[in-house]
Amino acid sequence: QTSQVGQLINLHQTAAKLYHHILVSTPAGGAALHYLQKRGMSRQLIDEFNLGFAPDGDEEVLLEYCQQQKLDYQLLRKSGLFVTDRAGNLHDRFHGRVMYPLDGSNGQVIGFSGRILASKGNDHEPKYLNSPETELFNKRQSLFNLHRAKKAARTAGKIILFEGFMDVISAFGAGVANGVASMGTSLTDEQVQIIQRFCNEVVVCYDGDDAGQNAIDRAIKLIAQDAPKLTIRVVQLPAGLDPDEYVQQKGAQSFQQYLEGHVETPVEFQLHYLRRGLNLHQQDELIGYLNAVLRIIAGVSSAVEQNVYLKELADEFGLTVASLQDQVKQIGQTLP
Ligand code: ATP
Ligand code: MN
Ligand code: MN
Ligand code: MN
Repeated sequence: QTSQVGQLINLHQTAAKLYHHILVSTPAGGAALHYLQKRGMSRQLIDEFNLGFAPDGDEEVLLEYCQQQKLDYQLLRKSGLFVTDRAGNLHDRFHGRVMYPLDGSNGQVIGFSGRILASKGNDHEPKYLNSPETELFNKRQSLFNLHRAKKAARTAGKIILFEGFMDVISAFGAGVANGVASMGTSLTDEQVQIIQRFCNEVVVCYDGDDAGQNAIDRAIKLIAQDAPKLTIRVVQLPAGLDPDEYVQQKGAQSFQQYLEGHVETPVEFQLHYLRRGLNLHQQDELIGYLNAVLRIIAGVSSAVEQNVYLKELADEFGLTVASLQDQVKQIGQTLP
């Protein structure tokens, strides 16, 4: 007899197989397959990530399949794969969505995220719909693709943190196998602890938009606090592109070179981040900016590293390194 958790895993494995079959081998999956192809997903990637499709309309493919197999009502209810109506009847939770299986630590399917085929969601139809919290799936502890990325992360000594599913998959297709996604923009303490187990460096590579920049700022602060020993690096993408779009538009080689060539420390990120929207030709805005960045530089423990940043600032704004050093010293005396 299989344990409850074992039964839930079997059910998820079965569902993933069914959704995948529908996507790649049935007419019902045609539009979704076309959608993925248009987004540049190869058949190989679709198979590797076991992507699927949950058909649209009134069909209850998963429910019907489970009823044929005479699976227990309570088990189905606990799985999160169904919603229950007022009469207590079950219905497939996912309709008309491309299905991304979410893998547990051993590669077993523990949940799903489903994406609508339209380019954006709306109030009634979120772009991505995730499994609810279940005995198997805990969103705060889950990192998309961790199972596959582990090995590559150990070899490379680092994990790359992306925002979304398509970023991870496109990066993987472009030969970057150590990518994971926090599935949404807010990284959790639990996810940081998990990352820390596999490597000692994390590269934050979020979308090249305002939301992405704000999320980088939050992520690097959280990581620094939760895992002080973890080396943090940031790669900022060109404005308007997310990693998936970068790979699709510019290709694998360009993506790999970009990841290698645009690595910033958290302080360098802050130097750029803090000047957004400022006009540094205005004296007062420049002074405000310098005060803010010198506070950050004052918190850097290595004097050598401090001087690298001070030299950059001095060169850019026509100041002397000595005057900036003085100011940093003053700030340093006021820091806790
Ligand atoms: P796509 O390229 O398919 O449009 P994306 O990954 O670029 O998706 P973003 O809007 O950048 O989507 O969001 C990043 C990630 O945040 C998504 O991959 C998904 O994991 C999560 N996410 C986005 N919208 C939602 C939502 N409505 N509900 C839950 N998670 C979401
Ligand atoms: Mn985004
Ligand atoms: Mn994105
Ligand atoms: Mn995207």
